[in-house]
Order: sequence, then structure tokens, then C-alpha cells
Amino acid sequence: MSKVWQDCLKTLQETLPIQDYTRWVAPIIAKQGKNTLNIVTPTPQTLIWVNNNIKITIISLVHQIDSNIQVKISTKKQNNPISTLVTKLSTPLTEDYTFENLILGDANQFAYHASKQITKNITTCEYSPFIIYGKSGTGKTHLLQATGHEIKKNNPQTNVIYTTLMDFVKGITNGIRHNHIETIKKCYQSADLLLIDDIHMIAEKNKTQEEFFHIFNFLFQKKKQIILTCDQIPKNIKKIEARILTRLNQGLSLQITPPELEMRSAILMNKSEALDIPLTEEIALFIASKMTENVRELEGALRRIKASISFSGLKATQLDINQIQNILGDLINHQNKIIDIIDIQKTVCHYFGISVSSLVSKKRTKDLVYPRQLAMYLSKELTNLSLTEIGINFKRDHTTIIHAYQKTKTLLQSNQTTQEDYKNLKIKLNSI
Ligand code: ADP
Ligand code: MG
Repeated sequence: MSKVWQDCLKTLQETLPIQDYTRWVAPIIAKQGKNTLNIVTPTPQTLIWVNNNIKITIISLVHQIDSNIQVKISTKKQNNPISTLVTKLSTPLTEDYTFENLILGDANQFAYHASKQITKNITTCEYSPFIIYGKSGTGKTHLLQATGHEIKKNNPQTNVIYTTLMDFVKGITNGIRHNHIETIKKCYQSADLLLIDDIHMIAEKNKTQEEFFHIFNFLFQKKKQIILTCDQIPKNIKKIEARILTRLNQGLSLQITPPELEMRSAILMNKSEALDIPLTEEIALFIASKMTENVRELEGALRRIKASISFSGLKATQLDINQIQNILGDLINHQNKIIDIIDIQKTVCHYFGISVSSLVSKKRTKDLVYPRQLAMYLSKELTNLSLTEIGINFKRDHTTIIHAYQKTKTLLQSNQTTQEDYKNLKIKLNSI
């Protein structure tokens, strides 16, 4: 044993109550280096006790013996099987999916604020489970992981488990196969914060659903925070047990919608800088105006620009809109396609099972008015025709077209059937 530590122990033994000395000090190991004294406590609790009670005394005792010695106090590395398993079962977080790299806009502000709120105090669990839902490529995974990063940064002691649903399924399957499902479950149940990405994929996976239900209940009762992402509002997930749906519906669900033009453009500019091909605002806006739904599409465009300029030796800022159009070619051209109004009428009629003559007739029955107004809306959106020209094709005047346009626009904001009809028709018209 180091001579310095032996001297310290002597004084500590004389000054501390015997039970404290036996419980906390005697099990400590100290190793002396050239100019250091490394004090290693057997458990993290001992470390806390030492820091709170005798750290200053130890340092001053050591310095009385030799003022050049630096005291380092740490705890022995814990070989806890559960914590090793936690690392194995967790999906690693992507380094740059942080709050700093997340662009905010109307599309994600509510989900962002709720996530931030959770990071400020994960023990209150005001919103557990919290479910972030929205279409693919709207930034759900990014936000979920940013929350994980932030909590790990602020509270390194917090046990954060992030897993994609597919990795979760693998964990459960392995547990069953190797007869240690209870240990696997314990591992997920040790989380202070459980983040599961793409929970909708649990549909039809009955065994995973069962285990998830137990893990969920355990954490819920222990007031631990659970955050999930989903590609749709949870209540619409099909082929999932009713008891799980009930649990999901108890929480807070917030949607991320596809980002609006300016937000898409800002994301593009940020990503282009990260890729070292900064774009001008004009070009970013141009690309963002051509790619409207999915941020992943924008990243595809950037990768293509990067590859193309690495061949040409040009800088991204030197590119004009024509060059960008050439580079992106098919990625954006289909969005420019001008569609014939006759095609729109035929496609809408076929979709709703009505004839073109009744679509443009004067009849005002419900089964005709809705398809007619949708066809008028699509004609305004997808052709270059003026309102009067569209009116002629429907044997109406331009005010009727404006009315139909407004009416459908309102329905598109609130009515799910209209949203689906619109999307299906656009796919049939080959315009998405
Ligand atoms: P989702 O999980 O909804 O399918 P992701 O989180 O995987 O979408 O996002 C797809 C890509 O778009 C990622 O590279 C992500 O960083 C980026 N992204 C999406 N939304 C934003 C945003 N608001 N700010 C910055 N990047 C974003
Ligand atoms: Mg995702």
C-alpha cells in the first residue's frame, strides 16, 4: 500500500466514526503514481460519500505530506450485466441528429416544443407516452434522437435507450430464442427514457406486441418517460392489439407535417453547408419549390449536386438554375409536367365511376358535385389554363371554378377522405 495513503488512513481512522470508516473508507483502494495518488472507490455510492465528506480532508492530508502530489478520485468500472446489455440492445444515435441541426417551422414546432419540455424535466412525465407522428422524411427520427442526445448531455446518469422498432423486435426474438427474455425485458425496463422509432411497424408482430405491452406498463407505472414515433396517428394503426392502442391513445400525440417552402429551403441550405457545397438562397428556394413533400428527397438532390460538381470542378455557388435543372433532371422534371385537362377529367371520372358527360353536365347531385369540384381544383393546380379556359372545359364560368377551388382547398385541410382522393388522383395523373 502507498505510504502516503497509509498516513492518510491513520488520520481518517482517528477522526471518523468507526462505522463510517469501516463502511466507506476501508474498502477504498489507492495507487500511487509518480506525482499522483489515484483513489478508487468500489461503488459509485462510495464515490459520492467520499466527495461529500472527506475529499477536502484527503487532499489536505496528502498535501501536508507532499504538496506536489495530485489526488484523483474515481470509482471502479462497474461490470453490470444489465448495463452491458443496454448498450448491446440500443441502436446508436446518429451524431448530427441534434436540436442544433434541426430547422424549426410551422411543420414541427409543436412536436419540438413538447420534446424540449421533456428534456427539461424527464421525471415529471407530463406527456408519457409522447408520440411524434407524420409521413416519412418529415424529421421524426431526427427529433426523437435529438431528445435522446440532449438528455444524455444534460444528465449523463440518465439511462436512455433508443431503439428502432426493428432492433427491438430483434432483441425480443433473440431473448426468446436463447431463453433469456426476462433479462431482455429487464434491460428495457431499466430505461429512464425509452425511445422507440417507427412503432407502427409493430403491427402483426404479436409476440413483440405482448412484450412491448409489459415493458410499457412497467415503465408507465414507474413514471418513466416513453417517446415513440409513428408514420400515422396511432389510433389508425391496424393489426395492433386494442390494449396497446388504448395505452398509446392515453399519451400526447403531435404531428409533424411536411415542411413548408421556406423551411425546406432552410433545411437545404443547412445540409448543403454540412456537405461543404453551400447553395445560394435562390437555388435552395428553387430546389425546395420543386420538391415538396419529403426532406429525404432534398438530400438526394444535394448528393447529386455534390457528385456532379466534383466532376466539373465548379463551386455550388457558381451554379445557375439551368445547370441545377440539368443536374437534377428526372428528380424534378416530373413535377413540371403539364397535364392535359381532358386527362384530368377522364381520370377523375374513372376514379369515381362516373361519365365525363355527367361530370360536365348541369346536374347537381352529390355524387357528381364532389368529383366535379375536385376535377376543377386539379385543373387549376396542374394545368396552365386560365380560370375562364378551365370554365369552358366544364361548361361553367370562372366564378364557379373559384368557388370549387376554395371549397376543395378547405376540404383538403380537414377532410381525410378528400386528402386520400386527392393523393390517389395525383398518383394516377403521374404528378407526384
Ligand atoms: P422521418 O423519421 O420522419 O422519416 P428523418 O428524421 O429520418 O425523417 O429525416 C429525414 C432527413 O431529413 C434526415 O436527414 C433529417 O436530418 C432531415 N430533416 C428532416 N426534418 C428536418 C428539419 N426540420 N431540420 C433539419 N433536418 C431535417
Ligand atoms: Mg424515421
